[in-house]
Amino acid sequence: MHTFEFIRPKDAKAAVATAARAKTAQQGADIRFLGGGTTLIDLMKLNVETPARLIDINRLPLDKIETTPDGGLKIGATVRNSDLAHHPKVQRDYAVLSQAIVSGASTQLRNMATTAGNLLQRTRCVYFRDTAMPCNKRQPGTGCSVITGSNRMLAILGTSEHCIATNPSDMCVAMAVLEATIHVQGPPTRGSRAIPIGDFHLLPGKTPERETVLEPGDLITHVTLPPPVAGSRQVYLKLRDRVSYEFALASAAVMITVAGGRVTRARVALGGVGTRPWRSPEAEAALVGQSVNQANIRKAAEAALRDAKPQSENAFKIELAKRSLTSALQMATA
Ligand SMILES: Cc1cc2nc3c(=O)[nH]c(=O)nc-3n(C[C@H](O)[C@H](O)[C@H](O)COP(=O)(O)OP(=O)(O)OC[C@H]3O[C@@H](n4cnc5c(N)ncnc54)[C@H](O)[C@@H]3O)c2cc1C
Repeated sequence: MHTFEFIRPKDAKAAVATAARAKTAQQGADIRFLGGGTTLIDLMKLNVETPARLIDINRLPLDKIETTPDGGLKIGATVRNSDLAHHPKVQRDYAVLSQAIVSGASTQLRNMATTAGNLLQRTRCVYFRDTAMPCNKRQPGTGCSVITGSNRMLAILGTSEHCIATNPSDMCVAMAVLEATIHVQGPPTRGSRAIPIGDFHLLPGKTPERETVLEPGDLITHVTLPPPVAGSRQVYLKLRDRVSYEFALASAAVMITVAGGRVTRARVALGGVGTRPWRSPEAEAALVGQSVNQANIRKAAEAALRDAKPQSENAFKIELAKRSLTSALQMATA
């Protein structure tokens, strides 16, 4: 049992100040904010995460969903996944987000899980969660057990020789097509920043332990979505081993606008196949300006998976991802 300090600040400023109180870089790195705890507490029980200081942010006033002056949406960091998925404006204007969240985890987990926690949930790679096994993400420089191990669930896009762990979030895939912005409050030296979701998650490269651009002590305060796109159709389609309470083998989020039988705007992202939520500019470029038909939809799916690199057990994901995207596009344009 690792001992840790448990702190309950009253506002975001106090939370960030508490986090910044570290005397050494190591102490700074050993701080975690606690949202719903559905990822973090699990990993603490497994000794994968051993924070020295846990800052509970559940009492902070970050639990509101509000319309922004430009007609977009502001989502507080501690808004529960259930509240977000069932919010009337989300269901009406950002349906892809509602569908993605509801497809994840279970009702009980979604009732606890927060918006910020979901953005930062860790991979489900079994070797990452097993401290008896080497893992570059958990313990840099120890090696990657999965490349020669059981890799059926793991990524085929954005991998490196150091890590092929999949980003497991459904919510983030929808947020990628909605072009969300993540708002962060850091210590006074860094201040507040707004980070487009496309720049938020990092590829593993040589440093798989670094998953986002956040620095230790950065607090996510809220997420904003741009105003809804008039006339767009949105679909999230998730394929998995069983129909509920299971992570994606492959999923697709699409937001598409069609006028006169041709695609005028397309946003496409894939889940379950990338080392980060996988926006596909290649599929988007293949769709825009084209008429909506089976051949053009398939071309977009081929473009999205062109750079896929399968491992020994997960080559099936390439065709599965193409089919999830093809079906999502057919549903959105039907
Ligand atoms: C059995 C099971 C099945 C699941 N199935 C799915 C699924 O199918 N699809 C899916 O997408 N997800 C699934 N999940 C994952 C679930 O969605 C995440 O665990 C959840 O979204 C994490 O949110 P949380 O608030 O509980 O995060 P926490 O566990 O509280 O935190 C997660 C991380 O975020 C950090 N953090 C939290 N809030 C902030 C903040 N404001 N600023 C900075 N850092 C912060 C924490 O320090 C921690 O590192 C599943 C989880 C479980 C346990």
